[in-house]
Amino acid sequence: MDEDKVRKKQAGLLVMKFGGTSVGSSGAITQAARIVQDEYANWQDVVVVVSAMSGVTDTLIACAKSAVAGNQETYIDLVHTVQEKHQAVVDELMIELELKLKLQEELATLFEALRSLCQGIHIMGELTPRGMDAVVSLGERMNARVVSALLQQNGFASRAVEATSLIITDDTFQHAHPIMEFSRSKTRAALQPLLGDHIIPVVTGFIAANREGITTTLGRGGSDYTAALLGDFLDAREVWTWTDVDGVMTADPRTVPEARVIPELTYNEVSEMAYFGAKVLHPQTIRPVVEREIPLWVKNTFNPIFPGTRIDGSSETERGRITAVTAIRGLSLITVEGRGMLGVPGIAARTFAAVARHEASVLMISQSSSEQSICFVIPSDMEAAVLQAVEDEMALELTRRDIDRVWAQPDVVIVTAIGAGMRQTPGVSAHLFGALGKENINVIAIAQGSSEFSISVVVAAADADQAVRQIHKEVICNELSE
Ligand code: ASP
Ligand code: MG
Repeated sequence: MDEDKVRKKQAGLLVMKFGGTSVGSSGAITQAARIVQDEYANWQDVVVVVSAMSGVTDTLIACAKSAVAGNQETYIDLVHTVQEKHQAVVDELMIELELKLKLQEELATLFEALRSLCQGIHIMGELTPRGMDAVVSLGERMNARVVSALLQQNGFASRAVEATSLIITDDTFQHAHPIMEFSRSKTRAALQPLLGDHIIPVVTGFIAANREGITTTLGRGGSDYTAALLGDFLDAREVWTWTDVDGVMTADPRTVPEARVIPELTYNEVSEMAYFGAKVLHPQTIRPVVEREIPLWVKNTFNPIFPGTRIDGSSETERGRITAVTAIRGLSLITVEGRGMLGVPGIAARTFAAVARHEASVLMISQSSSEQSICFVIPSDMEAAVLQAVEDEMALELTRRDIDRVWAQPDVVIVTAIGAGMRQTPGVSAHLFGALGKENINVIAIAQGSSEFSISVVVAAADADQAVRQIHKEVICNELSE
């Protein structure tokens, strides 16, 4: 690269992660490689993190499951499908013969490994979390090689790097936790020499290894986490996650056609959105960048000139008071009510202990200060079990009539308005309830987290879409245009 170009480069390191659809076909991979190359001209160092091709992780899981279930034909077919998908992409992308042959050889080895793993699972009739991790890790291991080979063919020095030699975790297969300081030194030792030699590392997302070197994974969707971890370990300037939408939206565009991309969000807001069902980054996955205050961008591989959404820790109050509205569907509201609950300690604790025994996650809780009822929201598929559990726990109180009844209202939706700027801003909830009132939407229950980053209301499923649209129209759009 000539002196001029080197001088124009921005100091510092950029980590870019490409999700499954962004590297899920030859067209997408071509586009992703172009993005990497363009940014490599702008930054001193670039580290790439890739997911498996879209659909591959799911298919690998299906391979392992059919192997253990004894369906030999099915798993052989499934392995074949994955192999054909990769082969087609390699055929479409690679023209440089030497690189192509090398890539094909590497992929063949990985497919052999996949076949023997499945065969082993089939013969043993046993599928451990450890075995599952070995199988699913192959999607990322294959794709990192494909993406790196294309970069090389395009004239860029690049190497596929397995995160098993970078991120070291505990033994919780399928949801492993990184051992931070150890992983930091491993990552720096492995990647800094490559960067020093102007090589672009293409790192497998999602996968890691325990101290013995056995492959682990960070949980589904874990590639974002990989990118955030590498950003932290390598003191990145920024982390960009490339996906197939223009950024984080003010609402689900399927419900609200006028939904727009949010140009800037705070870490707190994006965490709240994830908790409340918007399909964005999981709070856990961005924790490393939050702690280091590294800005995170969500960008669209298929519309790279669009800036996307920037997420950072900066000033909250300058922004609109409510930034987004989300809905979680398929829920039931459970109410425990009775006058005898007044002032009796332990009712709430016992109620939630009973719920916890069924491993139902409680999405929202609300109790009136009269203490005559507690209500909480759970996924509907847990409704019968939770009702029974609470009734059993409160059997004595129910016979004494201290508790009158425990009942469920099915088909409810939690609609949440999110905005870090609502903090210490009076009148936000009035505005929100005013908007719902205008359309005669009945609010069944209300909760506001003490973090004050969001307000949630429970409405009947039949009212949910309208509630979301109404909040979007009256609260978000009005404030954006103010
Ligand atoms: N391929 C993995 C999954 O589908 C990880 C990721 O894409 O982030 O869950
Ligand atoms: Mg993914």
